[in-house]
Amino acid sequence: MIKQRVKEILEELPLGVELEAAVKKRTVVEIQEAVDAGVRIIGENYVQEAQAKFMCLDRKVRRHLIGNLQKNKVKLAVKIFDVIETLDSVALACVLDRECAKIGKVMPVLVEVNSAAEARKSGVLPQNVEEVVDEFRRFKNLKPVGLMTMGPWVKNPRDIRPFFRETKKIFDRIKAGTACAGGEWKYLSMGMSDTYKVAYEEGANIVRVGTAIFGRR
Ligand SMILES: *Cc1c(COP(=O)(O)O)cnc(C)c1O
Repeated sequence: MIKQRVKEILEELPLGVELEAAVKKRTVVEIQEAVDAGVRIIGENYVQEAQAKFMCLDRKVRRHLIGNLQKNKVKLAVKIFDVIETLDSVALACVLDRECAKIGKVMPVLVEVNSAAEARKSGVLPQNVEEVVDEFRRFKNLKPVGLMTMGPWVKNPRDIRPFFRETKKIFDRIKAGTACAGGEWKYLSMGMSDTYKVAYEEGANIVRVGTAIFGRR
């Protein structure tokens, strides 16, 4: 079942759009099945869960953190993740940078955008993203390479479109500036099981899919 679903989604995705399997609460066996079917990026929400699961995985699979990162988990997180998708504050950037420096790693990070400007939701407000990216660029051991957004909860997937569209606009504006600065700016991570189609239509090049691959949690 998992294999079949992964194959179907991979066939559906336009060229250049990568499938990230969101694996929270999934077993190593389930994850391995998705990897065998062609998944090359896995996204985990919980640092400690990730550590146990990742030990069994092939190195060629890239590991992304897609959950909130608490400061006391940063030390472990920088060791086991290849990309942090949820950077949303300078305070966290400081801690991340420091821990990366200790192990001699430059961490690619995505800036999480609170695209619907919801109260109590993590992420940088849309109007602050460009400024915050500039600040993150000053850290030697962090490399901002794109944006991630969850978007608001919506009943109908099409209702999330304006938020993805706005995030893509911010992404493109920063991209234009990055070319001059000589940096890298390449990932736009948007869309989940219900909304990944809308997301790639609006320019996402990473979609994070859990339920549609593994079934209900
Ligand atoms: C769980 C999760 C997903 C995937 O959600 P599904 O609805 O199961 O596809 C994507 N992104 C993040 C940040 C998640 O926590």
